[in-house]
Amino acid sequence: MKKIEHIGIAVKDFAASIQLFEKILRVPCYKTEKVESEKVNTAFFQKGETKIELLESIDKDGVIAKFIDKKGEGIHHIAFEVEDIEKEMRLLTAEGFVLLNEKPKHGADNKLVCFLHPKETNGVLIELCQEIKK
Ligand code: ZN
Repeated sequence: MKKIEHIGIAVKDFAASIQLFEKILRVPCYKTEKVESEKVNTAFFQKGETKIELLESIDKDGVIAKFIDKKGEGIHHIAFEVEDIEKEMRLLTAEGFVLLNEKPKHGADNKLVCFLHPKETNGVLIELCQEIKK
């Protein structure tokens, strides 16, 4: 794993949260993107090498809506950038970690992503992400 690529934060009020994080980070949101497959709206901020990803549910039964129902707003996942996502997935599986998806899937911001089951990671949802090369 190379570095923390971004931290995902579950929010209820997308527009208000974008304004809030623009104020905290003093950078404009550089991109918003809807990810239909995950039933979320995402908003990205770049600060140094790391990004903040705000996540708003677009479906009351979506994973983010369920997360907020259970735990409230807050940090949802930590994403690590990897060079070769399939290789990382193989290594982690061999070490006994459970992956939430068997194959890398398309995430927001031009990434292939995979999540580790939080049961084996101290309750922290970890995302692996690899930039899709054009
Ligand atoms: Zn993410």
